[in-house]
Amino acid sequence: MQTDEHGGHLQLSGLAKEYGDFTAVRDVDLEVAPGEFFSLLGPSGCGKTTMLRMVAGFERPTRGKIYLDGEDLSETPPHRRTVNTVFQSYALFPHLTVGDNVAFGLRFRDISRAEEGAKVRATLELVQMEGMADRKPARLSGGQQQRVALARALVLDPAILLLDEPLGALDAQLKKLLQVELKRIQERVGITFVYVTHDQEEAMALSDRMCVMHEGTIRQVGPPRQVYEEPASTFVADFLGVSNVIAAKALGRHANGGCRVAIGDRELVAEAGDIDATGEVKVMLRPEHLRVGEPEESGLNRLHGIIERLVYLGPTTQMFIQLDGGQTVQALISNRGDAIEYPRGSRVSVGLPSSALRVLTTG
Ligand code: ATP
Repeated sequence: MQTDEHGGHLQLSGLAKEYGDFTAVRDVDLEVAPGEFFSLLGPSGCGKTTMLRMVAGFERPTRGKIYLDGEDLSETPPHRRTVNTVFQSYALFPHLTVGDNVAFGLRFRDISRAEEGAKVRATLELVQMEGMADRKPARLSGGQQQRVALARALVLDPAILLLDEPLGALDAQLKKLLQVELKRIQERVGITFVYVTHDQEEAMALSDRMCVMHEGTIRQVGPPRQVYEEPASTFVADFLGVSNVIAAKALGRHANGGCRVAIGDRELVAEAGDIDATGEVKVMLRPEHLRVGEPEESGLNRLHGIIERLVYLGPTTQMFIQLDGGQTVQALISNRGDAIEYPRGSRVSVGLPSSALRVLTTG
């Protein structure tokens, strides 16, 4: 296995898949850069796996093209594509040892036994399974089996590795550990990873860029921080973490910049998102940006309400606040060892910083 940068460049152009009159993937255009860790994220049934299967060659597109390093893959059968897939179910050969499982794909290549052995050893070392080459899969844990499945795909040195919910079957703690491992391995080998998941935290933790899909279409593509902080629609805002989405009326630009928005009979200023919008809109704010303070505090972008519910989550506490206008918003407060200052039922003021308040006009 090489350890230099040699990831494939993937381009999807107008890619569509229809099953009868049902459209699973709708004319998608997408580019994944060489060596990128790219995630396809979205709710169940949004078309992630179908896209992956078309890239692998297991599914024929209804329309559109797939290019790998500029070459059209339409007529290339799966086994001739320099693309390998790791599935959620490890699909190891039970009768073969770990070493033979990893060596399996190399048997069809024109390389010497010595070279094969060296590649298998180096790849098992990469996934930290070097001491287990002689074991059978049945004697491995789920996490270890997935490491072997990864090694079996990596040893073939693909231009692109497709991963379909590879950590989906593992418990939460092991999942976190393997996420870190996977990222380390990807950075080391430089292979382009296209990773399918419906777990938004996993996608954010791993990806250089991610793509949020919904009903066969791409809703937003970008680095995790950008997609999380600057969602283009209420769908993306809601899908990625928790967001407060409040119905509002946009009243036009404020003299000092930003957009004047009315929430009930209160006027606020929002400086993010579609600030030129007018009329019915939604304003959105992440819970960690809300500022909860004493009820006497007032001023720009400060509303008032009553704490309805507190949920202790360890590092943070979730606070549900019913605003005087009737809407409930959620604030996330860091727990730094101090007791929560405001018990349930307290009246508080809630600051909605204009810099983080985002006007959304797309659902
Ligand atoms: P999940 O996270 O649940 O795996 P997904 O986003 O990967 O979801 P896909 O497996 O790509 O979703 O499926 C997209 C849609 O296409 C689903 O509604 C699914 O029922 C449908 N679909 C997939 N394969 C077929 C098929 N062979 N025939 C008919 N419909 C299909």
